[in-house]
Amino acid sequence: MSKRVLIVGTGLGGLSTGLRLASKGFKVIFVEKNKQPGGRLNQIKKDGFTFDVGPSFFSMPYEFEELANDCGIKIPFEFIELDPLYTVNFSGSDKMFFLYKDIDKLSEQFNGIEPNFKEKFSAYIKKCSELYNDTVDVAIKQNFNSIPTYLWSLLQVNPKHLPVLLKSFWQQVNSFFDSKEARQIVSLIAFFLGRTPFDTNAIYTLLSYIEFVHAGYYNVKGGMYAIVDSLVDELSKLDVSFNYETEITDFKYSKNKLTSFVDKNGGYWEADVFVVNADAASFRGSVFKRKQFAPYKLNKMSWTMGYLTFYIGVNVKLPQVEHHNYFLGNNYEEYSRDVMKTPGTLEKPYYYVNVVSKHNNDCAPDGCEALFFVCPVPNLLYKHDWTDKNDIITSIIADFSERIKQDISKNIVFQTVYTPEDWQNQFNLYKGAGLGLSHNMLQIGAFRPKNFDEKFINTFYVGASTIPGAGLPMAVISSKLASERIMKYV
Ligand SMILES: Cc1cc2nc3c(=O)[nH]c(=O)nc-3n(C[C@H](O)[C@H](O)[C@H](O)COP(=O)(O)OP(=O)(O)OC[C@H]3O[C@@H](n4cnc5c(N)ncnc54)[C@H](O)[C@@H]3O)c2cc1C
Repeated sequence: MSKRVLIVGTGLGGLSTGLRLASKGFKVIFVEKNKQPGGRLNQIKKDGFTFDVGPSFFSMPYEFEELANDCGIKIPFEFIELDPLYTVNFSGSDKMFFLYKDIDKLSEQFNGIEPNFKEKFSAYIKKCSELYNDTVDVAIKQNFNSIPTYLWSLLQVNPKHLPVLLKSFWQQVNSFFDSKEARQIVSLIAFFLGRTPFDTNAIYTLLSYIEFVHAGYYNVKGGMYAIVDSLVDELSKLDVSFNYETEITDFKYSKNKLTSFVDKNGGYWEADVFVVNADAASFRGSVFKRKQFAPYKLNKMSWTMGYLTFYIGVNVKLPQVEHHNYFLGNNYEEYSRDVMKTPGTLEKPYYYVNVVSKHNNDCAPDGCEALFFVCPVPNLLYKHDWTDKNDIITSIIADFSERIKQDISKNIVFQTVYTPEDWQNQFNLYKGAGLGLSHNMLQIGAFRPKNFDEKFINTFYVGASTIPGAGLPMAVISSKLASERIMKYV
């Protein structure tokens, strides 16, 4: 008889693991606290508008290809490469920087701003590519059984990269570029890890290589949620069952094995193998009641920033805005120092706007646009009261209207908002930290919450909260690493 696997959570990590295991003959059952699958990779659909709730693009498409190959299927969704990758505008300036992958077109953006940009950028990217190529297989796509084996594998990395480990992302970028514009734009990607270039290690400059050269960014036809819809379709073909509005709050065990999870309504969920896609740190604390993950311990860990996200339907077209757009202020260093902890930064917020309807006509009614705003904010450890959310949103809409030279405030026909409280309550994200635990050196690799349980030999973890880390491709890699452990166990 096939082994029964219960997966808690239908985020991308959970769905990919389910697909890997179901395609190998396991009987897979999902339980999910929400009404629909996807976790942070979710969707709002209302009044003819469709919005991506969290991720609005992905990189490293070959990770999805590998997942599909491993499961004997074709990638079940269509994706389109973005070019430009995104635009950047600084407050008070009419100039819009277009971030092209083509180095000549990219360099043109910095004419008169950063002399010899092309040479400097080539040298920077060369270093980033070496960092990527020398670490990806050793540190990212590996299971580690212990801290010594992890440290041993790090020793295999070319020692010439050691000085990089002692620098911040910002310091590394500064050593290649002189202008504030080039420094800020090139270091912006550190924010994608939920921290700032000032407190992110320079090793992550490898992301610049991934973004500009190796992989680029992709939008999914029909919106990002097509990833979830198509994976759920594939899973349904394999007889996988989904149980929504089922939140796991307790457990039963015998000796060193978990025997069942218990949901909020007292329902028992038995299985041979259990996979947790909920946050690997806070689940260990809140459900398994592990002391090492009790709230006072969790609060001492380093968490990523929160996000104030809002979703706006407007009854007008905005041809002047690209698919991904960053709107920055003029105090990058001060802002970066304060954004994680000081609500005062919200008086002049930096923000990102995604126009999903730009490439997906179906995502907005004719003549309309679906806009998704993301504003980095302190998480709930540093800002508890969100009664000011509408004031912040009004100021962002006014600023956006000024910068695109079109007042959209009168054209809003739909609006909904997620504060860090909503992110916390809806997806069980600890303190509403959008990307969970941060990626500092003591919270990655073997130091990150493990993908196998410390006590129960039949329980595993998958997703951004365990190895290797945040982001959609990482969740897919994580499913491979967790599945490898499960296959060894059974
Ligand atoms: C605003 C925002 C924008 C982002 N943009 C991008 C982007 O553009 N590109 C990119 O690559 N990444 C992006 N990310 C990161 C990306 O969303 C995550 O890294 C990824 O989706 C995490 O997937 P996961 O499977 O690890 O977890 P999740 O998506 O968090 O899924 C976990 C699931 O478990 C469920 N769950 C939790 N607790 C329980 C319980 N006790 N019982 C039952 N179910 C439970 C949750 O409801 C959820 O469905 C973004 C994140 C945010 C917040």
